[in-house]
Amino acid sequence: MVWHTVPKLVQHLFPRRIWRKDGTGNSIYLTFDDGPVPQITAYVVEELAKRGQKATFFVVGDNIRKNPALAKELVSAGHKIGNHTFNHLNGWKTNQATYLENVTRCDEVLEDVLGIKTNLFRPPYGMLTSSQALEISRSHEVVMWNMLSGDYDQSLKPEVVLKKSIQHTKPSSIAVFHDQAKTVDVLPKVLPQYLDFIQEMGWKTDVL
Ligand SMILES: [Zn+2]
Repeated sequence: MVWHTVPKLVQHLFPRRIWRKDGTGNSIYLTFDDGPVPQITAYVVEELAKRGQKATFFVVGDNIRKNPALAKELVSAGHKIGNHTFNHLNGWKTNQATYLENVTRCDEVLEDVLGIKTNLFRPPYGMLTSSQALEISRSHEVVMWNMLSGDYDQSLKPEVVLKKSIQHTKPSSIAVFHDQAKTVDVLPKVLPQYLDFIQEMGWKTDVL
């Protein structure tokens, strides 16, 4: 099952995490997780550029190491970068020390390759223990979402992903898409129309 929106109760259970932005007018906060990868990230950047839109990319450190030129393109295009661990670890299945080390390792590769220090973090799979969240929130904003596109869910047809994403996006939404192997076929059928929709509504995209 895909939750396109996050129930209020869940949001209240995890107060250290940011699920939405308040009072920001007509901004939509587009986010792309898991890249950068050669198969799809450049496509995303191009579609955003066509419309003058900006996004936040929660990157996997190991992908930055493997694809430094692509990573630099994200920064030079004006997009923002957040930490998504070095190896895309599941916080619920990883002990505290290993998890925190992996977060730090992603920060280090961002500094080495891109010369940036990010204050943003998003846990892979949305899974993070309270003690991990507590530690990470000392140095990063832990950013969740309130509009999950379901683009990675291969049981969903692209038309459904598009329709649901449009239906659940409103001003101040934090919307999640993925630039990774599973979305290579889906994004070209969803993203252009979704980005057009934001424009047609008179909303603007903003980085976190
Ligand atoms: Zn992820």
